[in-house]
Amino acid sequence: MRNNLSLGTLAGVRIEINWSVLVIAFLITLSASGGFLPAAVPGRSDAVYLVGGLIAAAALLGSVLLHELGHAVVARRHGVEVESIRLWAFGGVAQFEGEAEAPRAEAEIAGVGPGISLLLGAGLYGIATVLTGLPAAIVGWAGLINIVLAVFNLIPGAPLDGGRLLHAGLWKRHGDRERATQTAGKVGRTFGSALMALGLVQLVFGGFGGLWTVFIGWFLRNAATAEIQFASLNKDLGAVTARDIMTAVEPVAGDWLSVAAFIDGHATRQIRPFYLVGEPGGSVGGVVTVEALAAVEAGDRWTTSVRTVARPVDEYPAVRADEPAAGLLRKISTAPLAVVWEGSTPVGTITQAQFATVAETARTLASLHNVRPEAA
Ligand SMILES: [Zn+2]
Repeated sequence: MRNNLSLGTLAGVRIEINWSVLVIAFLITLSASGGFLPAAVPGRSDAVYLVGGLIAAAALLGSVLLHELGHAVVARRHGVEVESIRLWAFGGVAQFEGEAEAPRAEAEIAGVGPGISLLLGAGLYGIATVLTGLPAAIVGWAGLINIVLAVFNLIPGAPLDGGRLLHAGLWKRHGDRERATQTAGKVGRTFGSALMALGLVQLVFGGFGGLWTVFIGWFLRNAATAEIQFASLNKDLGAVTARDIMTAVEPVAGDWLSVAAFIDGHATRQIRPFYLVGEPGGSVGGVVTVEALAAVEAGDRWTTSVRTVARPVDEYPAVRADEPAAGLLRKISTAPLAVVWEGSTPVGTITQAQFATVAETARTLASLHNVRPEAA
């Protein structure tokens, strides 16, 4: 399932847009064209307000994009690779590969986003003061939205920018990254709960706008919980890499084989929930699940090729063999399996269930604090 639409690359970073953004853009267009624009500048036609609303929605998306690009550019300067920027309902998320090496780098990467939003907000406000009519209303609104974006992102709870700044500060102060992550995550969770409570109060006294606040609080709380879990798992798994827990890939079978030949000649000899298929000894093209094989009617198995029931291999999260295993917590949460790569060669697979077992075992082992008995 694809929830994200690729918009191409900007400054070498892949820009993706989640479908939920279209809903937000629609809601903003609706509320701008039907609400605040007619209220600010009355007496125009519906078409004019609609165009104004569309411009307002585009201005919001552009503002979020600039904010995230700021993170991406500074991150890259500090040697942190950025996979993609994803725009979704609550703003943007820059997907980093790896983490900042030092508190200062982390603070700069986190701080630049709200910095850009504040500057944009002030600049747009300034421009709005010399404009009149509808343009003034739209540009002024865009300015306000950038200030809101900066302030919201400065809430000092991970994973928001403010939480990253807090994390960098604690890390620098105590020299303990893990402890800083726990603290920043807990503060994030508290803010998330507070927002949810605030939203409920709003809902009771002020109507449906509160639902939005509850949602944002819920999102923040969940994301902060994930940060905490990631930090503790990272500690428990220590130096374990993806290679240590993967199932090595068996020789790749040709994807032109019929389903029947593949089952008899390959699958039943290597019992796996997933098989990689492609050119034998060459490139891997797809992933075949046992369910997909079973879904082919018995009568069709000799005439259906494995290729037609395989899914493209790049639909699955990619993990480097030497990557810390804890990183899988994020990558595998929405996919049934991750493919482990050594350069451009897939060398193994890790299923969700497999990862869960390893994580559970690591947790148990970490809880066994062995204390050497005192010599009598
Ligand atoms: Zn940000």
